[in-house]
Amino acid sequence: MVCKHCGTTIPDDPDVHFCTNCGSPVPEKESGPIDPRPAADSFRYPQSFSAERQMKDSAHSEDGSGCLWGLLGFCIPIAGLVLYLIWRNDRPNTARSCGIGALISVALSFGAALIGTLIALVIVLA
Ligand SMILES: [Zn+2]
Repeated sequence: MVCKHCGTTIPDDPDVHFCTNCGSPVPEKESGPIDPRPAADSFRYPQSFSAERQMKDSAHSEDGSGCLWGLLGFCIPIAGLVLYLIWRNDRPNTARSCGIGALISVALSFGAALIGTLIALVIVLA
């Protein structure tokens, strides 16, 4: 074959990857028509797999069960409620976590208030 860079004739040796004259990379012309298909396939599959996986991963991380969001909703029920309303459609799982956290927090607050009231009543009535 002939070097595209300097025009030097290079022996058609599969081991020769660089021009003997100028040192520029030699396009593997001989194996060209055979290689591209398997190469393209072997490239395409991992790429599509990784892309799919990345999408899944990002979707998972963006809309996972969201323990932290649940904790946030638990600590700040108002924020949990707001986030629930914001993410209700876009991130149903995360929104649910926020909402559940907020609900548990509110329920515990009510429970504590109720128990406190009962204790106060018992003390007052006793
Ligand atoms: Zn050359």
